[in-house]
Amino acid sequence: MEMEDRGRSRKRKRAKHRRNKSEGYKQVQPSHSKKTIGEVPEEDEGKEHPKSSASVRAKKSVGLAKSSYFLEKMKARLSGGHFRMLNEKLYTCTGNEALDYFKEDPTLFDMYHAGYQEQLSHWPELPVNIIIKWLKDHSPSLVVADFGCGDARLAKNVKNKVFSFDLVSHGPSVIACDMSNTPLNSESVDVAVFCLSLMGTNFPNYLQEACRVLKPCGWLLIAEVKSRFDPNTGGADPKKFTKAVCDLGFSSITKDFSNKMFILLYFKKKEVKDSKRRKDIEWPELKPCLYKRR
Ligand code: SAH
Repeated sequence: MEMEDRGRSRKRKRAKHRRNKSEGYKQVQPSHSKKTIGEVPEEDEGKEHPKSSASVRAKKSVGLAKSSYFLEKMKARLSGGHFRMLNEKLYTCTGNEALDYFKEDPTLFDMYHAGYQEQLSHWPELPVNIIIKWLKDHSPSLVVADFGCGDARLAKNVKNKVFSFDLVSHGPSVIACDMSNTPLNSESVDVAVFCLSLMGTNFPNYLQEACRVLKPCGWLLIAEVKSRFDPNTGGADPKKFTKAVCDLGFSSITKDFSNKMFILLYFKKKEVKDSKRRKDIEWPELKPCLYKRR
């Protein structure tokens, strides 16, 4: 009997010990400890948990910062992709097609220009600033036509009367049109500017329009992306391009190839018309300027 009792009491003691052990385990294991790292149950927010609260908050804010960083990166990638798609479109269609395209959805124009500004922010010097300086060095009474003005930076920075043209207008200072067909009178302006805007496949029509609206001896200033005029990389021969512009009715005055990113070509309209028939002018092809993914 004694043996049996002792045996039973030993069994009871072992069972009690097991119960205490498992209860003890429950007590030291907080309910939220099984959650994934960084995840904080709603009801726990703001409560002080020994050891864990500060580190959980820190992990949470690191998590949020990381996700907003990736979101921003994703957005930048998407808008960069949109820009490159729109840019390629502008270089591979006619001005008229581009006008219809942006008429349908003018927000695409803003998207294009956001990407354009981003790309040019990496250029050490902007061609439009060189043209602004050129105008400041000449009489402010010269009337200017800015073909493909973008955000009309040129008009904003000179005293001259400037007619600014682009495919979309966000205000009265820019006239929305295809620049092969502007509302200007013939022989009404002194300076025609094309700053990185000879984009359409029918770019000779833009230069013909400039020739029409320029007064005799008026200036034609062209700034273009250098790679488009580098025959070593499939670009046009600048001599052939210059010859075609001269055949249209201009004299070549200055060529500036000193900048790494763009070239500058300055012409003057001939006083007397001796231009070739438009059909006989041989224009070189100007390849699109496709920006790299950054
Ligand atoms: N000249 C500005 C903007 C250059 S971006 C600057 O230097 O900052 C080229 C601009 O030409 C774009 O805004 C584009 O919309 C415009 N453009 C291209 N083809 C055009 C056309 N057929 N008619 C009017 N604008 C045109």
